[in-house]
Amino acid sequence: MDEKIIQDLWKAAQGPWETGVLPSTEQLSRARKSIPNTLPATGSRLDSVQRHILEEIVPAFNGGSISPNYYGFITGGVTPAALFADNVVSAYDQNVQVHLPNHSIVTDVEFNTLGMLADLFRLERSTWQNGTFTTGATASNILGLACGREFVLQKAAQRNGSQVTSVGENGLLEVLQAAGLSGIQVLSTMPHSSLVKAAGVLGIGRANVRNVCSADNVLHFDMDVLEKELARKDKATIVAISCGEVNTGRFATSGAEQMKEIRRLCDKYDAWIHVDGAFGIFCRGLEDTAEFATIKKGAEGIELADSITGDGHKLLNVPYDCGLFFCRHHNLAPQVFQNANAAYLSSGPSEGPSIPSPLNIGLENSRRFRALPVYASLLSYGREGYSDMLQRQIGLARAVYGWIYDSPAYIALPEATSKPELLDQTFMSVLFRAKNDNLNSELAKRINETSRMFVSGTSWQGAPACRIAISNWRVNVERDTALVTEVLNQVAQL
Ligand SMILES: *Cc1c(COP(=O)(O)O)cnc(C)c1O
Repeated sequence: MDEKIIQDLWKAAQGPWETGVLPSTEQLSRARKSIPNTLPATGSRLDSVQRHILEEIVPAFNGGSISPNYYGFITGGVTPAALFADNVVSAYDQNVQVHLPNHSIVTDVEFNTLGMLADLFRLERSTWQNGTFTTGATASNILGLACGREFVLQKAAQRNGSQVTSVGENGLLEVLQAAGLSGIQVLSTMPHSSLVKAAGVLGIGRANVRNVCSADNVLHFDMDVLEKELARKDKATIVAISCGEVNTGRFATSGAEQMKEIRRLCDKYDAWIHVDGAFGIFCRGLEDTAEFATIKKGAEGIELADSITGDGHKLLNVPYDCGLFFCRHHNLAPQVFQNANAAYLSSGPSEGPSIPSPLNIGLENSRRFRALPVYASLLSYGREGYSDMLQRQIGLARAVYGWIYDSPAYIALPEATSKPELLDQTFMSVLFRAKNDNLNSELAKRINETSRMFVSGTSWQGAPACRIAISNWRVNVERDTALVTEVLNQVAQL
């Protein structure tokens, strides 16, 4: 199978792959008008429903995952293997909730796919082939903070001599009271917004997610403040590591030594370490070469963490919804996510490794077979294929950053003292702004109006900025560098 199936769909629809990364106003209003405003009393023929969707709805989609020049939101793409497997998932509609080894192979495939991902990320299978497939990194961050919340409060309640120790069983307020604590804090550096959301969902509170950034680099921890906060007597602590900050693509930690130090401190104070490696974890798949040495240091030592988030629908290039969650403590997730008292859902006798039932270690009961597209894509590309894909993404980011650094119209961010220093730290994101303030205030809009590429508008140190996030498997360094620099030139009217 090749790209043909995708292209056929796009050809049928004359979609944005041909016409631009954003739908036109006409396409949008035509699609909007085509949507019926009441439920039809009788059904239509399947072919007419198909025609409506392909000819009226699809043309008003954006290039999100299909176009290699859609650089907003880290959308990833969909590899042909993943697309094939995702269609199999829908056609066979397997419910992956209970491990029933005599009834279906699906939980075995999921378990082994987690193992292959551990291999890809160079994590020990014996420790890390533990976890589950979620709907995305947001859900994985909820799982990570939920396991962390359970762990740090169990420790605190035990220290206090209490029998009431489990948030999952006894409830958050009861355990906090038993532990003599006023709450939980999450210490981080520029965490992704979804981590803050997770704290809100879990009763930790968004206001209790705190930056402990060093004065000279907001992406890095101030280790002295970190220790002071960990030592607090009134709060239990989860340390959340931004393994890939979403604006810059840069990393919170500087290598194995620093991770060891954070681990030592967290052990001393019974804290939990959660790594949000939604996209950053993928740099562990790169070969050990001088070219990638600096960025690889950013994800070094994350095997010392307690839980790790990865995203499937970003750099892994499988379709939505797919997130990855790894946790080294295999007994912990069941204490939080146990689907209690449903004997009819218990799994049968199993041979081989013990595979947990997904409904007891994650949010959902019924859910789709999320691992199959991952499995298919990993088999289709292997370590080398994924490394090649990522090298092209990094190659494009570095080519564009270098061009921006030299450009009279733009400034590369964070501001660098030299081009080699900037490129050395570049992963797959490019953050920049225009030197001219008037242009800068509408830069993202002007770039996106060309519809040749799409960037996210963001802000950096209080002023507007643009981000080019490169995550599609179709990247062609030469072709895409030419396109991006042409558009940036045109927008700056050079
Ligand atoms: C994208 C992202 C998330 C959220 O991921 P979703 O898959 O959109 O839920 C979390 N953390 C980081 C670092 C991200 O880049």
